[in-house]
Amino acid sequence: MKHEVLVLGAGIVGTCTALHLVLRGHSVTLVDRREPGAETSYGNAGLIQREAIEPVAFPRDFPTLSRAALKRGAKISYHLDALPGTAPELARYWKNSRPTAYARIAQVHARLIAHCLSEHEALIDRAGARELVARNGFRFVYRQQATMERAIARAQRLAREGGVRHAVEDPEALAAAEPALKLRLAGAVHWLDPWSVNNPGELVKRYAALFAQLGGRFVKGDAASLRQTETGWRVRTVDGEIDGEHAVLALGPWSKEVVRAQGYRLPLFAIRGYHRHYRGGEAPRTPMLDADGGFMLSPMQQGVRITTGAEFARMNARSTPVQLGRAERLARELLDLPEAVEQDPWRGARPCSADMLPLVGPAPRHRGLWFNFGHAHQGFTLGPVSGRLLAEMIDGSEPVVDPWPYAPARFG
Ligand SMILES: Cc1cc2nc3c(=O)[nH]c(=O)nc-3n(C[C@H](O)[C@H](O)[C@H](O)COP(=O)(O)OP(=O)(O)OC[C@H]3O[C@@H](n4cnc5c(N)ncnc54)[C@H](O)[C@@H]3O)c2cc1C
Repeated sequence: MKHEVLVLGAGIVGTCTALHLVLRGHSVTLVDRREPGAETSYGNAGLIQREAIEPVAFPRDFPTLSRAALKRGAKISYHLDALPGTAPELARYWKNSRPTAYARIAQVHARLIAHCLSEHEALIDRAGARELVARNGFRFVYRQQATMERAIARAQRLAREGGVRHAVEDPEALAAAEPALKLRLAGAVHWLDPWSVNNPGELVKRYAALFAQLGGRFVKGDAASLRQTETGWRVRTVDGEIDGEHAVLALGPWSKEVVRAQGYRLPLFAIRGYHRHYRGGEAPRTPMLDADGGFMLSPMQQGVRITTGAEFARMNARSTPVQLGRAERLARELLDLPEAVEQDPWRGARPCSADMLPLVGPAPRHRGLWFNFGHAHQGFTLGPVSGRLLAEMIDGSEPVVDPWPYAPARFG
């Protein structure tokens, strides 16, 4: 049976959900207040992280926590006034980061990650977007010998447990692989499987163009106007009110507010991050994470993009890009970055859940309402597979992975 479906939110997750629904013959309207791929899915580091079989846990070691508490370094920062509001979610995140709980969560996370390359590839090919994608992995680079050694041990464990491929590079091998590096580093772990995209927002736009080419409709509108009707769901758009038998909420870090209006209190929170582009120097050949510094450097069409670590703050609180300032100073030790492209840094927010897993599946108490959000640090990676999974649930076809562990109902 074919359905009329409203998909609210045209980031990587909503756009891929809409695309998979039209590919299965459904009639789909994709709604966003902006153009597709203009928010979080624009500003990320562009990595399709096949190596990320373990999600990003809450740090539990004393040196990282004390540096974070003192707001030192570029990895973690916070607004004090945001902590009471997110304390219950952060406490659950902390609890879920304990070794036993984390091992179970990582297993479930890995099942989605396993499909990230093949699911992106199918869409990249159909969308004619191959030139945006590099298939040569990315590097974690290390300044200190001690952290390098711990990283090698972890990479070996992930290779054993999850089949993730890597190469260890000593200082000479790293310098030869990345001639733009000015500083002699302790070495690198080169993850060989991941891909990188040199304009993530553009990739989402290509997926949205493919969706339109296949008969999908994109229209600007406000997801907050979503109402249940006798036959399904209704949303207000610039083309008037549009009805659907089903509605999918894929609003990334804005999902919490909209689901709350439908009566759901879910343990969601946002981890903010910043980026800025730099031009004029030699770019790295592959993206690199300065693991000791706590920031990413990605060669993008706009220049070298520095993206920052975690900032715990209210979604709409003013920008405080202190981590970007620190990252920029550290990055200039590594590369020539003469000219900042933008005057003001870009700011976005990773949509996180207390158990580090996305919510993909039916809303527990509303017929025809579906969720697809909470992809945290790996939403750009997971958009196509979780879009496919949700489309298959609506379609009633065999799902690509067992959907049960991602069911929103796990939160009651
Ligand atoms: C600094 C940084 C670096 C990152 N690096 C990576 C990476 O390298 N690899 C990776 O896999 N992930 C990365 N991520 C995470 C990834 O970017 C996100 O998980 C992902 O983009 C989330 O996609 P989404 O579609 O859920 O949300 P979004 O892309 O934010 O899309 C949500 C959409 O909802 C729309 N919307 C919101 N409210 C309304 C409303 N009321 N009405 C209508 N529309 C509305 C917005 O306009 C937006 O288009 C990074 C994130 C950050 C912040």
